[in-house]
Amino acid sequence: MGTRTGPSARTASGRLPRRLSPLALILALAASAPAARAQAPAPVVYRVSFPEPQHRYAQVEAVFAGVGAAPLEIRMSRASPGRYALHEFARHVFDVHAVDGRGRALAIERPNPHQWNVSGHDGMVRFGYRVYGDTVDGTFLAVDTTHAHMNMPATLVWARGMESRPVRIAFERPAGTAWRIATQLRPTGDPLTFTAANLQYLMDSPTEFSDFTLRTLTVWLPEGRAVPAARREATIRLALHHGGSEREADALIADIARVAREAGAVFGEFPDYDVGHFTFVADYLPYASGDGMEHRNSAVLTSSAALGDGVQRASLLGTIAHEFFHGWNTERIRPRSLEPFDFEDANMSGELWLAEGVTSYYESLLMHRAGLASLEDTAAEFGRTVDAVIRSPGRRFRSAVDMSRLAPFVDAARWVDRTNWENLYISYYTWGAALGLALDLSLRDRSGGRITLDDFMRLMWRRYGRPAPLVEGLVAVPYTLRGARDCLADVSGDPAFADAFFDRFVEGRDVADYEGLLGRAGLVLRRRSPGRTWLGDVAFAAGRRGVRLSGPAPLGSPIHRTGLDQDDEIVGLDGVVMRSAGDVDGVLRRRKPGDTIPVVFERRGGRVSGSLALEEDPALEVVPAERAGGALTGAQRAFRDAWLGEKGVGSLFP
Ligand SMILES: [Zn+2]
Repeated sequence: MGTRTGPSARTASGRLPRRLSPLALILALAASAPAARAQAPAPVVYRVSFPEPQHRYAQVEAVFAGVGAAPLEIRMSRASPGRYALHEFARHVFDVHAVDGRGRALAIERPNPHQWNVSGHDGMVRFGYRVYGDTVDGTFLAVDTTHAHMNMPATLVWARGMESRPVRIAFERPAGTAWRIATQLRPTGDPLTFTAANLQYLMDSPTEFSDFTLRTLTVWLPEGRAVPAARREATIRLALHHGGSEREADALIADIARVAREAGAVFGEFPDYDVGHFTFVADYLPYASGDGMEHRNSAVLTSSAALGDGVQRASLLGTIAHEFFHGWNTERIRPRSLEPFDFEDANMSGELWLAEGVTSYYESLLMHRAGLASLEDTAAEFGRTVDAVIRSPGRRFRSAVDMSRLAPFVDAARWVDRTNWENLYISYYTWGAALGLALDLSLRDRSGGRITLDDFMRLMWRRYGRPAPLVEGLVAVPYTLRGARDCLADVSGDPAFADAFFDRFVEGRDVADYEGLLGRAGLVLRRRSPGRTWLGDVAFAAGRRGVRLSGPAPLGSPIHRTGLDQDDEIVGLDGVVMRSAGDVDGVLRRRKPGDTIPVVFERRGGRVSGSLALEEDPALEVVPAERAGGALTGAQRAFRDAWLGEKGVGSLFP
């Protein structure tokens, strides 16, 4: 932080202040964009080529024209839209040079690790560099002989003060390839040249350059709703870079259509995609990392799993459902805390439980409604979610809003020091999904099924998501936590209910009555391993003298109460010498919950004796009542069908 210039200095250099109100931001961008057509600013022009794709780098030239007298401050981003941790993309940039409009070499200063200051130019700066990248995911750059998979913040520099300028970007094929482009960037007459309205839109536009398989399909929602025909259809493109077959591509786009139809049915209409369609860029390659990343009109899907793998395919589809739902929730129903996206620092957001977590809840719902997940699998997923929130120690310290604000530390962030997240953190995906479940069931329960979470999402959509953007790449009306609370008050017709829900479960640290709520749908929340003897959810590894705790001891567990923690080694348990994790299990199998047994352990070179009060494993699961030896009542069946049943009825294809 110390090396960064202060906000006033940045404003003076022409960069938009980061925390303008949305209206002020729009006015600032609008003033410097089309309004001043008479002397429209010169676009920023990029040329991206791959002279040696086998060596995993891109060659980039960025041309900035109409540059003022002050040094041009050229930056690599530190964050990528949709990813909440800092990633310091400048570390992959090398072979940097700059010339002016007459080709004269320019001096480059390095005021901080992310920036190149260029001065002495004639009003034009041509900035050239190479950038290494070998990570296939939703954040980084990957170049090899099969593709260039470009996340723009990891690939392109930009210049302070030129954030609102239009952009033109041309890609050059590596010699001997017939690669094509898949992107949400606007096409031009040249199939390898694209435009973006401004930096926000450019950086939000991941681009796949390869010999991908393309499928295009239009999905329709049923008629009979008060929605214009254009809003009832969505054109979806799938650019698939994988080692699988054409038949797998056909099957995937068909399943995408099912999921998309169910997602559309939640809102009653599709977003008005800026470029007329939504693009999935899917790289299912053995050398890809598992990821899904949402953008305004596209999503990146990466995985080392193949479509031919039946088990993994369901999780690939779950990611597709999640990212497509983001087209409404997060990309358009967007928290003010993420708007505009900050390329110089982390955006901290207290609303990720709603933006990400509720999206994860809908991921489960859409998969079931689309017929792609069984009731048992869906119930099991709800069980894992509810179990994590009810039992995780992190709830003692932080609310779902607080957990959301930790995203810059946990969202694909990497550290070299140890952390205690096991005790201090609950994923906002998990907690938010649990809140979505609780809110949906509560609304249905208290209204006799008349009002649901879908109604809440629709109201959020009408207020925040649907208004057309005044500046491309930015939402017109981002929401706040207060706005979401007000939406719940309005949709439920009961401000006291909304206040209680937000105060207790969202901003507070209580958990809803999941047993009662799930029971309305004939789902049973119960102990997963009744009678099983337990000392805590601890990971053990072989130690030097005994069995080592390889992670923090879970707060509140028997082993934590006894005083053991990470790296302590159990050498004796219940009078038995401990050499492996299996030895611990052996003792637990012989003992009952409620028993107290002696333990001897080594801690930082000293030997400690204590006693361990064993308990019953508190882990929870959710199962359908009819699988738990019970019977489903008519009311439970009706509740369940209204909740989990298909909604997107009607023809798939025009
Ligand atoms: Zn997400």
